Amino acid sequence: MTDESTPDAGRDFIREIVAADLASGKHKSVVTRFPPEPNGYLHLGHAKSICLNFGIAEEFGGRCHLRFDDTNPAKEEQEFIDAIQRDVRWLGFDWGEHLHFASDYFEQLYAWAQDLIRAGKAYVDDQSPDEIRLTRGTLTEAGQNSPFRDRSVEENLDLFARMRAGEFPNGTRVLRAKIDMGSGNINLRDPVLYRILHAHHPRTGTAWNIYPSYDFAHGQSDSIEHITHSICTLEFEDHRPLYDWFLDNLPVPSHPRQYEFARLNMTYTLLSKRVLTELVREGHVTGWDDPRMPTLAGLQRRGVPAQGLRDFVRRIGVAKANSTVDIGMFDFTIREVLNKSAPRRMAVLRPLKVVIENYPEGQVEELEAVNHPDDPAQGTRKIAFGRELYIEQDDFMEEPPKKFFRLAPGREVRLRYAYFITCREVIKNAAGEVVELRCTYDPATRGGNAPDGRKVKATIHWVSAAHALPAEVRLYDNLFATPQPEPGNFAAQLNPNSLETLTDCKVEPAFRTDAADGAVQFERQGYFVRDRDSTSERLVFNRTVGLRDSYAKVAAAG
Ligand code: ATP
Ligand code: MG
Repeated sequence: MTDESTPDAGRDFIREIVAADLASGKHKSVVTRFPPEPNGYLHLGHAKSICLNFGIAEEFGGRCHLRFDDTNPAKEEQEFIDAIQRDVRWLGFDWGEHLHFASDYFEQLYAWAQDLIRAGKAYVDDQSPDEIRLTRGTLTEAGQNSPFRDRSVEENLDLFARMRAGEFPNGTRVLRAKIDMGSGNINLRDPVLYRILHAHHPRTGTAWNIYPSYDFAHGQSDSIEHITHSICTLEFEDHRPLYDWFLDNLPVPSHPRQYEFARLNMTYTLLSKRVLTELVREGHVTGWDDPRMPTLAGLQRRGVPAQGLRDFVRRIGVAKANSTVDIGMFDFTIREVLNKSAPRRMAVLRPLKVVIENYPEGQVEELEAVNHPDDPAQGTRKIAFGRELYIEQDDFMEEPPKKFFRLAPGREVRLRYAYFITCREVIKNAAGEVVELRCTYDPATRGGNAPDGRKVKATIHWVSAAHALPAEVRLYDNLFATPQPEPGNFAAQLNPNSLETLTDCKVEPAFRTDAADGAVQFERQGYFVRDRDSTSERLVFNRTVGLRDSYAKVAAAG
């Protein structure tokens, strides 16, 4: 799916490399992969990686594989495997027949590990995980050789086979590469290739009692699949020498190249499956698809269109230096996409009753409203007008300050698509709160214009009390209150106002027949989408994003 219409940051350095490799004939076609670990739902950061990998394949006529890096059964689940596939498809990409799993290669990886043992390049270490950690050294100090480093090939092969067969408990032995405990790169200090784990794997069940490390599985899986460009995030830069070491020391079918780019970070957001898992487990959100979550499932439920995510990723570009994107840029992009497409509707979130005293009781008129001001193809609809209406509470003030131009005692305003009305009387309850306005309308202003040319300073939205549908509206705000949240200590950092639920809303009757899934603009309020919690008695809407252009404000403030 190429979105040529969207402004982008120009061709990035990875696309330059791919283009050059194709031009020079180094590769006939490009093969990329998106390699998620199925230990959680995909988030906005993954969207960047998906759009990059699948986008390059599409733009250069190659292909992109979806490969699950399912090497740690302690944390991985079938639910996540299913959700990830759903989310990649929803984002608009297709891996065709190239759905792969690192676990498909377990047998081959095991054989390659035996090759390393036979070549004297791997050994079984009986040290505990703590001992291995403590003898690894530091950035400034070399590590120490394991006392088990010089075992014979025969003994290593035997122990490795018995690890596989399940003879030893978790954590008692590992297989390590024999590289260099004095290397300046800690990843080359005899990295762990296999660990013992008696766990049920979603795909291989109990067939294996040992599992390969990420490092041992990843590059070799790339090689088996003939990936040409293995694109990952910057934290793997220091792993690249190890990635290459395996491919140089094993009889692999191809030698892919790894390239690193900066991961996406965004203000008021944490993009890490580990953190998102904690938010779900600790009950700070209702689930992985809570609309406040930066997961693709959450964003989808909040009403963010896939096109908006693709536009956002295109706009932020791909770079080599880490940075943090302003969440205002995200909102801006979503607003921009929805503004073009979302039909307009009227909805009153905090209703105030209005009675038009000179409008005949029982009379109903059908007034015409446009569905989209810039897109006549979206047509018009009829909306019912009657003697009793609802307007927004904050569109009225009893004692308006100077700059308040909306309804006030004695003041005339326009009701969108309908008439001019004038407020004649304010009715209050025992507590002194305004509960109803008595108004009059000018029948000559039907459609919203006065034949005598007189002007009003405000146009407000409304719904007919007799025709409106009841609704619940969920207003979402940033999940975190702090612009640069840190993992952990969520209680102190979460935004206590990230969800405001309004239960007494009134929406125009068009929603009875509108399609349930698309986003709409509630005029003057923002973009909303119907939530799956809706019932036939009561609609539920999620606010996707407000109308206010906060990005422009932020940008202007510099
Ligand atoms: P997390 O830290 O959220 O658990 P991860 O990197 O462990 O993410 P993986 O499932 O291993 O998650 O990631 C799959 C791919 O997505 C990897 O290539 C990874 O580099 C990329 N990726 C993960 N997070 C981001 C991000 N914030 N921005 C860009 N790419 C990302
Ligand atoms: Mg990972």
